[in-house]
Amino acid sequence: MTVPQSGNSSDHQTSHLKSNTTTLHSCLQYLSDKATDEWREHNCPVDVKSLGKASWTLLHTTAAYYPDRPAPSQMDTMRTFINTFAENYPCWHCREDFQRSIKESPVRVGSRKKLSEWLCQRHNEVNVKLGKETFDCTKVFERWLDGPADGRCDAPKKKA
Ligand SMILES: Cc1cc2nc3c(=O)[nH]c(=O)nc-3n(C[C@H](O)[C@H](O)[C@H](O)COP(=O)(O)OP(=O)(O)OC[C@H]3O[C@@H](n4cnc5c(N)ncnc54)[C@H](O)[C@@H]3O)c2cc1C
Repeated sequence: MTVPQSGNSSDHQTSHLKSNTTTLHSCLQYLSDKATDEWREHNCPVDVKSLGKASWTLLHTTAAYYPDRPAPSQMDTMRTFINTFAENYPCWHCREDFQRSIKESPVRVGSRKKLSEWLCQRHNEVNVKLGKETFDCTKVFERWLDGPADGRCDAPKKKA
């Protein structure tokens, strides 16, 4: 907000009013844009980014809850799940690269750790392609299973 340096008090008031009206208008516009964004988020078809974020959440969480010692049938269904996902992922250019990646590095279904690390590496390939930072794969269970040791991700305590 600008503070007038000269003029009479009525000029000051008019200037303040104008300035306050502009600020109020900006705030209302901000709230309206925010409401629109929120509405869009819950009601519109997804774009590549939000589809990706939701898909990685599903994939990493599925891997984090995969057994340490899977039965042969669990290994089969996981292999099928990943391969079918790669064939049907609804972003065609993402799908092509992901299919190429899992052809070069087939899915490792031998244990929770192997699957989670394998997936982390696949995700890092996409991160590199998009110019993003790579993720430290030793932290994959902290991110997707346990949360940080300091409890930041624990449910907030209810007030008495
Ligand atoms: C199979 C697949 C292929 C994709 N290919 C493309 C593509 O070719 N082009 C394109 O534009 N987008 C692609 N995407 C989408 C892209 O990867 C991102 O999901 C999107 O850009 C949104 O990014 P984000 O910054 O929200 O975080 P995301 O990359 O979606 O990551 C979500 C969260 O996962 C965690 N994370 C990040 N990296 C790792 C990792 N290596 N291991 C474990 N956890 C991690 C972080 O906490 C991060 O906040 C693809 C998505 C999928 C599932």
